[in-house]
Amino acid sequence: MCWCGSNIASTVDLDRVQKAVEKLTNVVHVEQNKYTCSEPGQAQIVAGIREHNLDRVVVAACSPRMHEKTFQRTVAKAGLNPYLLEIANIREHCSWVHTSVEEATPKAIDLLRAAVAKVIRNTPLTTSTIPVEKRALVIGGGIAGIQAALDIADAGHQVVLVEKEPTIGGRMAQLDKTFPTLDCSACILTPKMVDAAQHPKIRLLTYAEIEEVGGYIGNFEVTIRKKARSVNEDVCTGCGICWSKCPSKAPNEFDCGLGERKAIYIPFPQAVPNKPVIDRENCRYFTKGKCGVCKKVCPAGAVDFEQEDELLRERFGAIVVATGYELFDHSVYGEYGYGKYPDVITGLEFERLINASGPTGGKLKRPSDGKIPKTVVFVKCVGSRDEAKGFPYCSRTCCMYTAKQAILLREKMPEAEAYVFYMDVRTPGKGYEEFYTRATEEFGVNYLRGRVARIYPKGDQLVVRGEDTLVGAQVEIEADLVVLATAMVARRDAAELAQRIGFSYDQYHFFTEAHPKLRPVETNTAGVFLAGACQGPKDIPDTVAQASAAAVKVAMLFSRDELETNPMVATVDEGTCSGCEWCKPTCPYGAIDIKTIEERVGKRTVSRRVATVNTGLCQGCGACTVACRSGAMNLKGFTNEQILAEVEAICL
Ligand SMILES: Cc1cc2nc3c(=O)[nH]c(=O)nc-3n(C[C@H](O)[C@H](O)[C@H](O)COP(=O)(O)OP(=O)(O)OC[C@H]3O[C@@H](n4cnc5c(N)ncnc54)[C@H](O)[C@@H]3O)c2cc1C
Repeated sequence: MCWCGSNIASTVDLDRVQKAVEKLTNVVHVEQNKYTCSEPGQAQIVAGIREHNLDRVVVAACSPRMHEKTFQRTVAKAGLNPYLLEIANIREHCSWVHTSVEEATPKAIDLLRAAVAKVIRNTPLTTSTIPVEKRALVIGGGIAGIQAALDIADAGHQVVLVEKEPTIGGRMAQLDKTFPTLDCSACILTPKMVDAAQHPKIRLLTYAEIEEVGGYIGNFEVTIRKKARSVNEDVCTGCGICWSKCPSKAPNEFDCGLGERKAIYIPFPQAVPNKPVIDRENCRYFTKGKCGVCKKVCPAGAVDFEQEDELLRERFGAIVVATGYELFDHSVYGEYGYGKYPDVITGLEFERLINASGPTGGKLKRPSDGKIPKTVVFVKCVGSRDEAKGFPYCSRTCCMYTAKQAILLREKMPEAEAYVFYMDVRTPGKGYEEFYTRATEEFGVNYLRGRVARIYPKGDQLVVRGEDTLVGAQVEIEADLVVLATAMVARRDAAELAQRIGFSYDQYHFFTEAHPKLRPVETNTAGVFLAGACQGPKDIPDTVAQASAAAVKVAMLFSRDELETNPMVATVDEGTCSGCEWCKPTCPYGAIDIKTIEERVGKRTVSRRVATVNTGLCQGCGACTVACRSGAMNLKGFTNEQILAEVEAICL
């Protein structure tokens, strides 16, 4: 029994507890020390086991989260199986939550009685090992996926980077300049894209998606669908003749539909791989059976209309999910007129319009008539911090990207006026507050605190009606262009992907980390890690930091040839299992399956369905044991019998 200095000893009368515990059946020796976790404290346990020939140990101290592993190692030193140890948490569960010795002392006795009742039912458990496949799968080729892939590869491991679009780059490739340094996005991103493509340990699979994921940490089995590009990547030289001659056009997704591209196209000039893809929905050959110009003009003979999707089956030891985000569907704010008034655009559209490789060659022009805007109004928090129409969370990047866009506008066109409607200005990052101050003081951007109520047309302009809460007055600004800072939201297919791989997501469909503070890059599925905006709104510095953190976790995993499995896993008593399948959906790790067994009943052989546990996936949470109506599910180390014995000991 540990005093934990005065943490326990000042609230629990340990001498009284000792007297009570000494009387319990099966208890042969009790001792106290000031700090059991200290070296002398642990040495005392080892000596006690040897001297009294003990075969079970209870340590009454702090939470098992703190020192269970420490004490397991201690008893192992004395030759005991580490699972023949129990912890009675008389600190967090007792001394810290009570102020009166009279309350805490009997409770400590109860907790010890329960621990003794359990430990005598403990059985030795042994860990086994599984081999680790030292190859990583990274899903999503935005800056998060690229960074994670590069770091894992630089640590010496093979990586397959799967990107669903025809090129890697993600949203960062669409941005013009980046806050807070205003360096050109493409200039810092494209070298990384090229590095990823040329890295000897990275294999890029673009225009590809995850079809199926099975297995467990160290041994995932993944089926990847490589969609037909209709262009043989190995043969294509990226010369560009095909798209220059293609007669079919379609809206250019990379420019947010503000420009056009051909039916055979590369998304943007620095795309990686720099190989075109045929958009079959807009290609005359595929829709009308005529044309085929690209095939005729291709000097390398790379165009392949017959190409089909390919299914690749690969094994990986770890998975990094880096699938990024989408933008809020602003059509919800009908009063802002997006879609109705062409000069109401989103922040991402602004990025394309102001970008030198964008649809207007970097000259900011109004989509409606191509005129240069003289007054631009930016509206923040469109879809964020708005429970009524959007999401309650803060989208974290919009304050900064709006300040950036207002600066870029004033930098390019000093004669233009910039107004920003805001609720708060949030700048929690290195150099961010200074950046915002520059927007107001150096670049003269006008900030108005209040929400916009309505946007309506007047002549060839738009009237933005809102409130300036600092002045306490309604304001109306006649604008040539309105930019909506739409919130970063989870991808529409995020939940489906999480279910396919088998990890959890939150109420907004962002992927959930194992612990918000202490395990921010791990998921609740061992071996699956998170990077970037798929976990929640994030800017580029935070995305890159998290991607590198995920890569370190993968490298740590790959530093071992074998993994020790957790012996505290669920087991099924096939004799009592009724095959009701209630346990299966309860398991958050997808560790339970149903199998058919054959049994002899008299002279007949009958088949029966029973649950089975994949011990590689099981994390020992015990949810299935609670769901099991026939009591067939049991968790090793926490069997139903052990738990009931504890309850009985407390209720006595
Ligand atoms: C208008 C605007 C301006 C911004 N400006 C800045 C700025 O100046 N500075 C800054 O720091 N941040 C800025 N940001 C934020 C920045 O865009 C993000 O921090 C960054 O893009 C996050 O990178 P990511 O890789 O996590 O996600 P993404 O960029 O979204 O990349 C995810 C990738 O995964 C792919 N993918 C998705 N699903 C799958 C799947 N199932 N299988 C395979 N691949 C998949 C996607 O196609 C994409 O390529 C801005 C954001 C917006 C909206």
